[in-house]
Amino acid sequence: MRLTVLMNAGPWLPVPPPGYGGIENVVATLVPELRRLGVRVVLASVGASALPVDELVSVYPDGQFAALQRPYNQVCGVAQAHLAGVARELRARDDIDLVHDHVEAVGLATLAAMGPDAPPALHTLHWDLAKHPALYGHLDGGDRVRVNGVSAAQLTRAPQALRDHAVGHVHLATPLAVDAERRPGPLRGDHVVVLGRITPGKGQDVAVRLAHRYGFPLVLAGPVGPYHRPRDLAADAGARQNPDVRFFVDEVAPHVDGDRVRWVGTVAGRDRDDLVASARATLFPLRWEEPGGTAVVESLALGTPVVATARGCLPELVDDGRTGLLTDDEERLGELVRAAGRIDPAECRREAAARFTPAVMAQRYVELYGRLRQLAPARLPPV
Ligand code: UDP
Repeated sequence: MRLTVLMNAGPWLPVPPPGYGGIENVVATLVPELRRLGVRVVLASVGASALPVDELVSVYPDGQFAALQRPYNQVCGVAQAHLAGVARELRARDDIDLVHDHVEAVGLATLAAMGPDAPPALHTLHWDLAKHPALYGHLDGGDRVRVNGVSAAQLTRAPQALRDHAVGHVHLATPLAVDAERRPGPLRGDHVVVLGRITPGKGQDVAVRLAHRYGFPLVLAGPVGPYHRPRDLAADAGARQNPDVRFFVDEVAPHVDGDRVRWVGTVAGRDRDDLVASARATLFPLRWEEPGGTAVVESLALGTPVVATARGCLPELVDDGRTGLLTDDEERLGELVRAAGRIDPAECRREAAARFTPAVMAQRYVELYGRLRQLAPARLPPV
């Protein structure tokens, strides 16, 4: 009998997302591979999701992401309404063998609270586990709710109660890794790229200082808060309310001269791939414990060495000296950018093709689904 999984992607963005959308992108990468492996997928998302699935269930017709800019008391029902819809679905039908949930905090809390009314559930933790200590520190999901991390390092930051529910970690994947070792290398430029949301944890302020001190061309790609283009940020007089905007304006923008250092906003699709593939290195001057690092595995898949602070998942994803250069000392990053030319791009692509393809990720999740079904007691038949 085919395994049926309800994949809960949440109410924020369609799957696949139209542009930036970390979790929705992971779901869009995972689901086709699961279906190839024979899993039947019921996607819980918004009505606008276009990912081919066996069935789509939704509460909202469109992504609710814009609501996140509103005050808490106007937003706090959005994810709950979506989860209430998922709970109704799980109670009403008996064909769902397992839930794979990706909705921060409320997904986990709802599934734990449902007890035996829900099938076994795997909740993937995509974020920093030092968050939500009151929820994670007291989690009781019984034998039915389990969690997985996106790196081993991430799980070490989890409170004990959350760790007691963990069944391991699954590294993130990218479609760019498929056949990456066969892709010819592009013409390499001299620029260095920082790819990601502009926010203190990603350390763009360090990158801009190093670019000027060591004299390398630097491109910052990514949104600042909700602003994807420099002109959208400039046009909003109230933008400074957002903490990432304050970080950008105060710590980063004074060093963006449009020549040695440029901020190009969010780049997507082919443009993003070309920007990264032609770079001398991608730079991750991290100030936080990066939990999963999609941009890291994308860089390897595109044959671009990673130069990074050795924090969070970086030492698991990057083999220091072979696919990138890591350091504990952020002041050394500038020298490592200079040294990145000694890393073989073909080695980076081979590594990505072996470890970070969607097929590898899906195979690992199928193993975890099997484990969950062994661990959870059978669902009680209705009386
Ligand atoms: N990204 C993008 N365009 C940009 C900046 C980032 O498409 O201008 C993508 C990047 O390629 C990656 C994702 O956004 O797929 C960021 O994921 P990551 O796990 O690196 O960081 P997160 O934002 O989830 O902390």
